[in-house]
Amino acid sequence: MAEPLLRVRGLNAWYGESHALHGVDLDILPGETVTLVGRNGVGKTTTLRAIMGIIPRRTGEIRFDGRDMIRVPLHRTAHHGIGFVPEERAIFSSLTVEENLLLPPVVAPGGMEIAEIYRLFPNLEERRASPGTKLSGGEQQMLAIARILRSGVKLMLLDEPTEGLAPVIVQRIGEILTTLKARGMTVLLVEQNFRFAAKVADRFYLMDHGQVLDGFPVSELPARMAQLTETLGV
Ligand code: ATP
Repeated sequence: MAEPLLRVRGLNAWYGESHALHGVDLDILPGETVTLVGRNGVGKTTTLRAIMGIIPRRTGEIRFDGRDMIRVPLHRTAHHGIGFVPEERAIFSSLTVEENLLLPPVVAPGGMEIAEIYRLFPNLEERRASPGTKLSGGEQQMLAIARILRSGVKLMLLDEPTEGLAPVIVQRIGEILTTLKARGMTVLLVEQNFRFAAKVADRFYLMDHGQVLDGFPVSELPARMAQLTETLGV
């Protein structure tokens, strides 16, 4: 079996005194798309934040691309090849689309040129001079993803990218993830929309109480749907 690009073992994380992750274990192989599922508040977003280093109080093992990341601070994480697209998208509203794209530094080789990004996101090219405030939710989500592609990261952490978006935009985001996968991008996704996740994910991890309980390939999703619907209350 190939070496995982990301290996997480016994990951604990705290918000102040509040203990949010209780020993998360997961592996992601190079080029895989893996989806975290679980009820609200079980620690999916916190897992992404702890891997990225946004939550400074964390213990355990985070091995990425052969490097121990547990003591790497947030401002260095992107340099090692991990990018984070938060649920709130964090677009700079006073900057134009193109300025938002150009702002993050290129931190690793293999990042996309702006022309390549516009080929993948023709709607962003059309809107290149529009300020962030004028973008629709779907355009903001695409910009948030596009911005990370330029920086050259190998692993993208994506938090609920389809939330609140119209079906046609959700489909477009699915196509973009499929294209990125074909180019070798590795993705860890938090997603409540199973129909979307089934199209893009290779595997799923089920979380509860700040831990990963179970993992299964997408081929098992239909057989597990009844159990998941009951566990997740969706
Ligand atoms: P959701 O889909 O609702 O975001 P989640 O599975 O992503 O759910 P997290 O957001 O990771 O869950 O939250 C895990 C736990 O940490 C919850 O108990 C939550 O209340 C707590 N938590 C999240 N963010 C903070 C914060 N900034 N400060 C303190 N506690 C937090």
